[in-house]
Amino acid sequence: MFENIPVSVGPMNEGERIRKPDMYVELAGPKSYGFELVKVDEAEDKIEVIGKDLDEMEEGSINPFAIIIKVKGKKIEEDLEGVLERRVHEFLNYIEGVMHLNQRDQIWIRISKDAYKKGLRLKHIAEVVQKLFKAEFPFIEKCDVIIITDPDKVKEELEKAREIYNKRDERIKSLRDEDVDVFYGCIMCQSFAPTHVCVISPERPALCGGINYLDARAAAKIDPNGPIFEIKKGKCLDEKLGVYEGVNEVVKEKSQGAIERVSLYSALVDPCTSCGCFEAVVFYIPEVDGFGIAHRAFKGETPLGIPFSTLAGQCSGGKQVPGFVGVSIAYMKSRKFLQGDGGWERVVWLPKELKERLKEDIPKDLFDKIATDEITNVEELKKFLKEKDHPVVKRWVEESEVVEVEEETEEEKPDLEAPVINLPGEFLGLPSGIRIELYNAIIKAEKIVIYKENGKKK
Ligand code: SF4
Repeated sequence: MFENIPVSVGPMNEGERIRKPDMYVELAGPKSYGFELVKVDEAEDKIEVIGKDLDEMEEGSINPFAIIIKVKGKKIEEDLEGVLERRVHEFLNYIEGVMHLNQRDQIWIRISKDAYKKGLRLKHIAEVVQKLFKAEFPFIEKCDVIIITDPDKVKEELEKAREIYNKRDERIKSLRDEDVDVFYGCIMCQSFAPTHVCVISPERPALCGGINYLDARAAAKIDPNGPIFEIKKGKCLDEKLGVYEGVNEVVKEKSQGAIERVSLYSALVDPCTSCGCFEAVVFYIPEVDGFGIAHRAFKGETPLGIPFSTLAGQCSGGKQVPGFVGVSIAYMKSRKFLQGDGGWERVVWLPKELKERLKEDIPKDLFDKIATDEITNVEELKKFLKEKDHPVVKRWVEESEVVEVEEETEEEKPDLEAPVINLPGEFLGLPSGIRIELYNAIIKAEKIVIYKENGKKK
């Protein structure tokens, strides 16, 4: 199928990383712009490159890039566009020397020097994508693949693409999680995050932002053995956190037993796993008992003193990390957003750009109370939240009151003493400069083993 393509094509190339020194060019990405789009439209099996091909680009350069795939077929519904579009990630990563990350208008592609030297050009990439779409989805009768690198044309088409993304996200708005008996799961990202399972409900679109409930439903219908599948919700175990018996069973099975329980609407209690494709990360800031959110395009530092990339590293790869969760922008617009943790009332920090983007979705009375990236550390953040009387400030007061009440209660009932942990006599505490704070923690340990630096037990 790929005899005339100068590099290998297949799943064995998925997961290939192209570091900067090995990169011939970068396409789209955080330092440029671009998008990918699948549209149900008229098509005639055309391949087209508008703008410079790879051999006309300067080595080491970063270039705008768009890939538009038009598909035609009697059985194709518009609902399938999002799901087909998500496969672009997989298909481009099948090509030796091509690394594709993210989705929609966040794509980031690198071409390796080796692949370029072997003769790989954009027209080949378009051809591979066209062939794979037609092979994997026999209901696609005709498929055009148009790659654009002309900067003005990419910009012009990008605006149109964003309108289409918005329309897709709007279609789902009237449907509620309570209205349906089934959710959907997706394991497309298990090639690089083996324990990751996305659970997609009407009010919790996938964290990549590329697949909503209707997209998932259409995909599961047309390809029942594919990576997107139905999940029967089953008994609701916790309405506020969004815990369902059926969801837990499927997540356990599909994560090979690694994850046993997930809360759909919480970042603190059994959060969903995160792969690496998320549009934003929600992170807990213990000092203020609230959440910050950083999106992929944000290049500065969060009040924790670390950028998005470091935060993303904390929770990607299919891990379940309480306090961190990858989310899509569409989920932030949902009624269920962090419902189990207090919703928007618990959000204390956002990059300015993201806050503006969510202006219509953040409750009006909270908008001015949420800090932006002008606040760069926790001390400033605390001061800001107090001045603005952010709802989390009440939690600080309530928590200190709880401590006082608990202390009084202990005095009244001396026989309810907390268990005492005896550390070994030689234990000298933590190294200087390290502090551990535990909030609302319940710690249970049957055994504590302390190792010397040479690995021997103390
Ligand atoms: S992020 Fe989730 S929904 Fe999106 S492709 Fe990956 S597994 Fe599927």
